[in-house]
Amino acid sequence: MLHNRQYQEKIFDLAVLGRGAASITRILVEEKVPTPGWLNYDRYGTFANIYAGAPAEKAYAWTIAQVKSILKEKTYIGHSVHNKQSNISFKNKKKVRKPQEEWYRVENTHEAIISEEVFQKVQELIASRRRKRRNGMTQIFAGLIKCADCGWSLAYGENRQNKNPYGYYHCSKNGQGLRQCSMHYIRYDVLYAYVLARLQYWSMLAQKDEDKLLKRLLNASDRERNSAKKKQAAELKKAEKRKVEVDGLFAKMYEDWSAGRITEYNFNMLSEKYQNEQKELEIKIRQLHETMEAAVQTAADAEKWIALMKQYVNPVELTAELLNTLIEKITVHEAVKSEDGSREQEVEIYYRFIGKID
Ligand SMILES: [Zn+2]
Repeated sequence: MLHNRQYQEKIFDLAVLGRGAASITRILVEEKVPTPGWLNYDRYGTFANIYAGAPAEKAYAWTIAQVKSILKEKTYIGHSVHNKQSNISFKNKKKVRKPQEEWYRVENTHEAIISEEVFQKVQELIASRRRKRRNGMTQIFAGLIKCADCGWSLAYGENRQNKNPYGYYHCSKNGQGLRQCSMHYIRYDVLYAYVLARLQYWSMLAQKDEDKLLKRLLNASDRERNSAKKKQAAELKKAEKRKVEVDGLFAKMYEDWSAGRITEYNFNMLSEKYQNEQKELEIKIRQLHETMEAAVQTAADAEKWIALMKQYVNPVELTAELLNTLIEKITVHEAVKSEDGSREQEVEIYYRFIGKID
């Protein structure tokens, strides 16, 4: 018998694999997974008017609407602290802890079983499916493709005037009367071909020589990491030294005040100054420690990404699942036209776990 938390997990598991609500509903019915309503009746006798004496099928009479609403239920997200880290550089994916005030916690009020990551992915898949129904085309890049200049998502459009209609993206801060950013126009087929070629390239390397690829990923981040590490170590030393000094100054000032060598007014003013500096130094020292610890994470992250990459041997087409598994975001720069009329455009792919690699 499935318990409450298990049916939720099952529904999200199926959704993450790209199943829609209708398909999930069919599976739940086929596998005779009891509905939450029936589980409650079974346990607490609620809604006996519906379930008492009803045919056995009533226990697993799932509806599409029910599955849809479960997939949107935020309270199923796992009890964990989110928003803990922000990436200061995608290249080596150094994580910097945000100050504690910026953390937010999803409390375990419900039976929390779905990770934030799975939940977000499912929302993206639902959104992309909705868009597909509307314009007859899957928006596989939904949520992934951003403007390199303003950071907003690129919006999808279609040129239907053309004999062969084609899709394209443009910065959403440029569309709908907003002219706050430039167009950042890129054709869908151009973007598709580029991203597919990059993934095919990494897939080939992951299969051919995993160790070599790992080394290459680590080297790319090493160069930056080494210089950053030196800088951080120097900063840490300086901050720690100053903290000792300030602590000493504070103690001395206290002595002076007790001995009547400085006025109450000066004591208050100085003590506020020293205390603020102490607080700032403490925060700085803590952050530097955390940054330096987080850098050690890189090797494990690179291995994680290679393992994911290996799941997709020689991809021949892009799907929302493939893109969301491997890619964190894709940024599109404004195209540059050269004098000879050729058009050049930079597209950056930031991979999950490892960031940008060339
Ligand atoms: Zn923009």
